[in-house]
Amino acid sequence: MFGAPGSGKGTQAKLLSEALGVPHISTGDMLRERIARKDALGLQVESILQAGGLVSDEIVNRLVAERIEQPDCATGFILDGYPRTVNQAKVLTEVWAIAPLVVYLKVDYNVIVARLAGRRQCPVCSAVYNLSREALKVCKNDGSKLMIREDDREEVVRERLKAYETQTTPVLQYFRQGGYPCWEIEGEAVGGPPAIARRIQELVAEKLGGAAGIRA
Ligand code: ADP
Repeated sequence: MFGAPGSGKGTQAKLLSEALGVPHISTGDMLRERIARKDALGLQVESILQAGGLVSDEIVNRLVAERIEQPDCATGFILDGYPRTVNQAKVLTEVWAIAPLVVYLKVDYNVIVARLAGRRQCPVCSAVYNLSREALKVCKNDGSKLMIREDDREEVVRERLKAYETQTTPVLQYFRQGGYPCWEIEGEAVGGPPAIARRIQELVAEKLGGAAGIRA
């Protein structure tokens, strides 16, 4: 699942993973878990995430390599936030010999900035809400007070978008040149995330059919 920060790729990756019954692997979530745990790796990467920069390829590649070796990944998985540099993409395709199907969520730059500014998250269950869609103060699942993600502050958002422009957009180019299928999906829809999820699942069913094991 490919897209800018705030494109909705985390939301779509989660929905698609539920529909296909394969794991959702979010490098951002994995890194945030390690930061919350305060283990050695968490302490090492905390300041990088807070500044909106990218964690080193070596660290992220190792995290993903360990995860995709788990038995639940044997029939496939959804990568969210990985690969984020051309070097990571080369490790995926050349070292691990994985041929990805790329779903690119296209969203206008101004929409992304507005979405990131309005994003709130539940500190307990990690549910994500957007104040531009609904004015909420507490989580609908457990009533916890919603928080702003540390890296959604305006100055950090600027850095994240810069990192996306310079280091991550070349990844799409790399996949296109390598002949990997890249589906462009409008990341904004009247019906919100569920409508976009339906569009992606229709495409999966149409192009991959039963091979993808999509659930009705
Ligand atoms: P978003 O895509 O909205 O910025 P993520 O949760 O995917 O949010 O990522 C949060 C942060 O985690 C990134 O800004 C970056 O610091 C780090 N990160 C996540 N994935 C990678 C990756 N593949 N390579 C390097 N850094 C990463």
